[in-house]
Amino acid sequence: MLSRPGDRQPTEQVAAEAAVRLDGVSKRFGPSVALDQAWLKVRRGEFMTLLGPSGCGKTTLLNLVAGFLAPNEGEIFIDGALVTDVPAFARQTGIVFQNYALFPHMTVANNVAYGLKARGVRKDEIRRRVAEILAMMKLSGYEERKPRELSGGQQQRVALARALVIEPKVLLLDEPFSALDKNLRASMQVEVKEIQRRLGVTTIFVTHDQSEALSLSDRIAVMSAGRICQIDTPEALYRRPADRFVASFIGEGSLLHATIEQMAGDSAIVSVGRSKIAVPAAPLSGLSTGSQVDLFVRPEHMQVGAPDTAAFEGQVAAAIYQGDHVDLYVDAPEAANGRLMMRLAAREAAGLSHAGSKVAIAILGEDAVAFPRTA
Ligand code: ATP
Repeated sequence: MLSRPGDRQPTEQVAAEAAVRLDGVSKRFGPSVALDQAWLKVRRGEFMTLLGPSGCGKTTLLNLVAGFLAPNEGEIFIDGALVTDVPAFARQTGIVFQNYALFPHMTVANNVAYGLKARGVRKDEIRRRVAEILAMMKLSGYEERKPRELSGGQQQRVALARALVIEPKVLLLDEPFSALDKNLRASMQVEVKEIQRRLGVTTIFVTHDQSEALSLSDRIAVMSAGRICQIDTPEALYRRPADRFVASFIGEGSLLHATIEQMAGDSAIVSVGRSKIAVPAAPLSGLSTGSQVDLFVRPEHMQVGAPDTAAFEGQVAAAIYQGDHVDLYVDAPEAANGRLMMRLAAREAAGLSHAGSKVAIAILGEDAVAFPRTA
């Protein structure tokens, strides 16, 4: 059966026509499949992020929307219009590349004006729109500079101005912050988000950095090996990952050996050590009572418990002080790879910082999710 994560969003069915829609889009390069049956709907004004490890097909998907690549299968729609065979220049998308790709011999003003000139916009209109967008990007006064006379952050803003000045239907951002140093990156992220909100421009953003994705996005499409695994809000991805890959790619967590005790409609009860935990049944479909599964637990959802309420006991391997909290690494046979990580407030960890200390671990049922055991 085809996986259509985009179609699982009930609100999408009632939403107006999507700003961007991919219907079963695949792209192959020779024998290798870069994108495999992608179904995606991006709402108007939405900040949608494509997140996944290197080589999973993010840039391919972006280039298909931009029109730089043609799909082998499937259809692409922008604002409800079929654009699969429409050339890139006629799609009204604005794109910002990782390396900015500014024209080095042109001034800032001419770089930004380029798309408007190509579209035959009148000169006075071009002057007005370029001045307006440069003011928005805090680049007034830099009109006559060449790109090499600008800092990385300023070049980034010029690239963004050039993409936005044409008033695109969709803004496409391909790892736009990766060439910036850490501090500049954080401030550019805030600026881009602010501008995107103010203009209400539909945005598709590519990154492999999960914290960047979690902080910027309305929704995230998590990708792996050419497939979209799950499309959801950052919070829903964190709290209800659909599969093992999404769980491990978004945030941190530990896998614990567990057994299905009961399947009951939408939820299942699994046991781990002496505790029973309710989890969503969907990822366990096809399994029955007695099946061995892996329980995925976030570090903040394990606590030091009284021995009678604890699920099991372990032995502290290391306590890593992190300022406001302590990451406690604990060895226990219930942990799938022999070790788990829990996150405690610094005062809760007092007395547990010695390697070898015994610790009783209670699991807060909240947001636990289980997956079929793999070999
Ligand atoms: P990264 O984060 O490293 O940019 P990505 O998720 O954007 O990765 P893509 O660039 O979309 O991944 O590549 C997906 C797959 O398609 C990779 O295996 C890549 O090697 C392959 N690929 C991409 N472009 C081409 C091409 N022009 N010719 C052949 N193979 C390609």
